[in-house]
Amino acid sequence: MNKVLITADRVIAGPADQVTVDGAVFVESGMVTAVGAAADLDAAVDTQVPRLRCPGATVMPGMIDCHVHLAFDAGPDPISAVAQADPGELSASIADHAEQMLAAGVTTVRDLGDRDALTVALRASIDSGDTVGPRIIAATAPLTSRGGHCGFLGGEVSTDDDIRAQIARNAAAGADLIKVMASGGALTPSGPRMWEAQFTPGQLRLIVEEAERHGLGVAAHAHGSETIAHCVTAGVRTLEHCSWRTAEGIVHDPAVVRRMVENDVAVCRCVSGDWRLFLDQMGPERAKAMIEVILAMREAGVRFIAGTDAGVPGARFGDYVGMLEFFDSLGFTHAEILDMATVNAAHALGLSDTGALAPGMRADLIVVDGNPLTELGALREIRHIFTAGRPVTR
Ligand SMILES: [Zn+2]
Repeated sequence: MNKVLITADRVIAGPADQVTVDGAVFVESGMVTAVGAAADLDAAVDTQVPRLRCPGATVMPGMIDCHVHLAFDAGPDPISAVAQADPGELSASIADHAEQMLAAGVTTVRDLGDRDALTVALRASIDSGDTVGPRIIAATAPLTSRGGHCGFLGGEVSTDDDIRAQIARNAAAGADLIKVMASGGALTPSGPRMWEAQFTPGQLRLIVEEAERHGLGVAAHAHGSETIAHCVTAGVRTLEHCSWRTAEGIVHDPAVVRRMVENDVAVCRCVSGDWRLFLDQMGPERAKAMIEVILAMREAGVRFIAGTDAGVPGARFGDYVGMLEFFDSLGFTHAEILDMATVNAAHALGLSDTGALAPGMRADLIVVDGNPLTELGALREIRHIFTAGRPVTR
C-alpha cells in the first residue's frame, strides 16, 4: 500500500491540542503528505487511492518509548539472561521484544543499553524492511564505572582515555547516542548505591564533549540529586529516572530544576506498567515523596518524556499504556500525557520527522478506537499501526 487516505472521527496531529474532527491523513511513499478535514481530502485525493475509513476512531502519531532495554527479558534476573544467552538467541528475543512494542502502538523505541550492539543490527534489518519492528534509536553499551551499574553490558571505563575509547567504539558500532550510568542503580546491587555518583563532574563533561565530537547526544541515568545537578551542568540532553535520591531520602533542588527547564533537559521518569505494585513496595511515605518531586518538576515546567524501562524486572514489553496511566493517576492531563508520548519525546530525542502528523513527517501513526483525550484506555484499542507508511499486520 504505497498510498492511503485514512479518515476517522478525529485526527490528533500533535501537539494534542491540534485536533481535526472528522479528519483525514494522506500517506504517500512512507510520508504524511496532507492532514485536514476528511471531506476536503476525500474530494482532493484521486479516487484510485485506497481509503481506510475508521468510524469511531482516532488517528494520532505513533507513540515513542524513550527508555527500553530490548536485550533484557523483564524476568527476575535479566543480568544472567543477557550474560548467558548466545548472540543468536539474544538477537531473536530482541526482535521479539521490539515487535511486541510495535504491536502496542510504539513506533519508535530508544534502547538505552544492550550487549554487542545487537540492537543496531536489528535497526538495520528493520530499516531495510527485512524485519517488522519499530524505529530503533540505539545507545549500545552504556558507559559505567568499573564494577558499576550494568557493567555486564561491556561499557566499563575508569580513565579519561577509557571514556574516549568507549565512546569511539560505540560510535563505530553505530550508536545513535551515548548513555552514561551517572549514578548507581537498583539492578546492580554490588555497584554504588543509587544516590552515589559513578563519575566526577569533570568526567561527565568529558563524556558530553566527546559524544558531541562524534555528533551524538547523551542520556544520563541519574538517581542521585548531586549527580542530577552535575549532569545538567555537563550538558546531557535527557535525564533518565531523575528520582532525586540522597542518603537521607528524596530531596530535589529547585535551582537545578530551573536550569533543566532553561537548558531544555528532558526528564524520562521511567515507570513500568506495574507501578501500583512498585508504589506499594516503596511504602506510603517514600511513594508520596517520589510523587511530590514529579509534581514539583511539572509545576516548574520540566519537559517530561515517556519511558517504561521495559526489560528490567517486572517492566513488560507492550505495557506502554500502563506507564502512561501512572501520570494520569498524578493528575497530568491526557493532552500532556499524549505529548509526553509523542511530540515531546521526539523533540527530546532530536527526531524532527516523527511524533506528529504533518506534511513531510514519517507516516508513523496509529488508529485507536474511541478518543484518548477523554479515555486513556483508548490507546489499548489499536485498530491499525503504520510505521514509515507501512501497515503492520498483526
Ligand atoms: Zn534503564
